[in-house]
Amino acid sequence: MGGKISVTGTFEMNRGCPYTCTFCINSGFHSLYENSGGYYREQEIPRLIDEMLEKKEKYNLSFVYLVAESFLTTTRKRIEEFGRLYPQVGLPFWVEARPESISKDKVDLLSSCGCEGISVGVESGNEDFRVRMLGRNLSNARIIEAFEILSNSDIRVSANNIIGFPDETREMIFDTIELDRQINVQGVMVSFFSPYRGCTLRELCETKGYIKEDDIAGDYRLGPTMDMPQLRREELIGLHRTFPLYVKFPKHEWDDIRRCEQNTPVGNTLFQEYSRRYIEQFMS
Ligand code: SF4
Repeated sequence: MGGKISVTGTFEMNRGCPYTCTFCINSGFHSLYENSGGYYREQEIPRLIDEMLEKKEKYNLSFVYLVAESFLTTTRKRIEEFGRLYPQVGLPFWVEARPESISKDKVDLLSSCGCEGISVGVESGNEDFRVRMLGRNLSNARIIEAFEILSNSDIRVSANNIIGFPDETREMIFDTIELDRQINVQGVMVSFFSPYRGCTLRELCETKGYIKEDDIAGDYRLGPTMDMPQLRREELIGLHRTFPLYVKFPKHEWDDIRRCEQNTPVGNTLFQEYSRRYIEQFMS
């Protein structure tokens, strides 16, 4: 009876993030703490390693998730120190990173000390929208380069995407799908934009009437908070569940995948069939 239980430990390497993407709470934290030295904090690596060793022993950990909103956006000295000390912990670990922080030497270092996987933020594949609306000043070319570097390593890679930003259209979501197809990523994660109070985009959503001032933004994993004229809630829910299918399956199947967007008996049956194929082909 019973198999081995896998226990993942979550550790905080940094608090906050030096960037200010408008959809992220860090944009609010930066404003809130701008007169008191900023919100971003870095934990000393030796202390982090001590904490990991203690928790590994105490909870019999088998995996580590490192909370650093952009793991590689720190000094080379810190990354090298981590690479030197982490082998004492000796567990596989997963991190998150911004595309522009990814370089071959940093990836080699991660790989050499046991990094099992990395999630990289694509967020939107429409370059103009990403820069103008989301405050992420980087090109599609740099994103593609980052995923190319990772594809030549033994690290598992996942792309983080978000849909349902204010004023985003169906066509823009397909720009994100196209970029994910181009980078040919292994793992495809997609979340709903949620206008949490404090993030810069919240104000725009209120101004545009997508959300009322006292509305509470919902869980980004469960459904869209906003119902926008150019992208109705139902359409967004359909695009959310089919997003990975559009990324992974050939375009001649896109008409069928579009049917999977529909919350109808036919759409749901087809969606179940595609989900089964997705797991078989891309997750086993
Ligand atoms: S890089 Fe990530 S954590 Fe940092 S501000 Fe942007 S979305 Fe937030």
